[in-house]
Amino acid sequence: MKQLEERIARDGRVIGTEILKVDSFLNHQMDIALLDEIGKELYRLFKDRGITKVITIEASGIAIAVSAARCFNVPAVFAKKARSLNIGKDVYKARVHSFTYDNDYDITMSQNYLSASDTVLIVDDFLANGAALNGMISICEQAGAKIGGIGICIEKGFQPGGDEIRKKGYPLESLAIIESMDENGIVFRKQ
Ligand code: 5GP
Repeated sequence: MKQLEERIARDGRVIGTEILKVDSFLNHQMDIALLDEIGKELYRLFKDRGITKVITIEASGIAIAVSAARCFNVPAVFAKKARSLNIGKDVYKARVHSFTYDNDYDITMSQNYLSASDTVLIVDDFLANGAALNGMISICEQAGAKIGGIGICIEKGFQPGGDEIRKKGYPLESLAIIESMDENGIVFRKQ
């Protein structure tokens, strides 16, 4: 998605060689016009998949899920990051390793909001090693829900998550894929 790549190139900040900060437009301050376009692009890519729900993980995925869900005219549901003590019985649950904080946390989703009758579009802001996505895939499996698509805003193609998830056969589309990045600039994969 050209508009997203241009924005990343203009306003993204590379920290070291592995972390990209996009908090001036995507996951802290949010450019709603850009988010609208992201939602439309995800709809264009997955509109024929019979999507009944868009799911993500709080917090950064929520704005993207809302934008996409509006285009599909379906609900958006976010998995909550919960401490184990608070987790009730009526939830799907998965353990995720946080790339940005280097710790493990549980995500939960109420069984009321995802079931075997759903076909899901999973969305998130970033894809790095794939832990967050694998957590959401596990929640869909627990629910018996079908995964109709996976839509990521920014995939860091030099980290293994994207290739691993494609190899498993999931319909993954990333709107921008970064081949490499450092303080001199960002190189995008041609798509
Ligand atoms: P993964 O689980 O694929 O290793 O990492 C994806 C999750 O970690 C995303 O939900 C995102 O919030 C966070 N993340 C991974 N890499 C980055 C990054 O370079 N910048 C930011 N802001 N978040 C990232």
